[in-house]
Amino acid sequence: MLIAGNWKMFKGAHQAREFASQIRRIAPEGVDVVVCPPYPSLEATLHALGPDSTTRVYAQNVHWELEGAFTGEVSPPMLAELGVAGAIVGHSERRQLFGETDETVRLRADAALEAGLHVIACVGETEAEREAGETEAVLERQVSVIPRHERLVIAYEPVWAIGTGKTATPEIAQEAHAFVKSLHGAPVLYGGSVKPENAATLLSLPDVDGALVGGASLDVQSFEAICRAGAEAA
Ligand code: PEP
Repeated sequence: MLIAGNWKMFKGAHQAREFASQIRRIAPEGVDVVVCPPYPSLEATLHALGPDSTTRVYAQNVHWELEGAFTGEVSPPMLAELGVAGAIVGHSERRQLFGETDETVRLRADAALEAGLHVIACVGETEAEREAGETEAVLERQVSVIPRHERLVIAYEPVWAIGTGKTATPEIAQEAHAFVKSLHGAPVLYGGSVKPENAATLLSLPDVDGALVGGASLDVQSFEAICRAGAEAA
């Protein structure tokens, strides 16, 4: 059971340090806990968690080259050197707002794995794609490029459920997770408006192996409650 908090573009270094000091040993038995701060807060988060913390730190994105003229990008070895343990790739906000494609998701995932990092690779359909009956075709296309590796997990995040307060029903989530699992052997996290109130139901579905949490991971109490729900469902 993996519970990962995606802080998106929230929590600068000062806030990250304060937050991290409160979640150093948040992980209940049977749950791996990850937080994904923005790049400038990675070091402050790692420092405040300290070496004996059970909470691990991932980046929200990573480039595929080792170094070079790629303004605004960060390479896998740069993350590894800081002590960052992994990275999210292919988040729907990257796909929708920053031109991420299936091919760049593949490149990012391969490079991160090559550098020894863990990877959370995101997939998910938009509302229009679901209404057009294209959910399985979209998932099949997105999953087809994701490498198979023991350090990689997939996050199924229906785009219409991210940051909208609309959670997938347990039936929709279970059906999509089972489909993704029929395509790829990796564990599959659910993402999309996961909150303390719905976490227990979603995390106890047979093909849900954890959660990628946005908004509700920004508050210690709600993140902790989701981690506890994960432990009960594990
Ligand atoms: C996310 O950022 O991946 C996410 C699922 O966000 P939220 O939980 O806010 O919908």
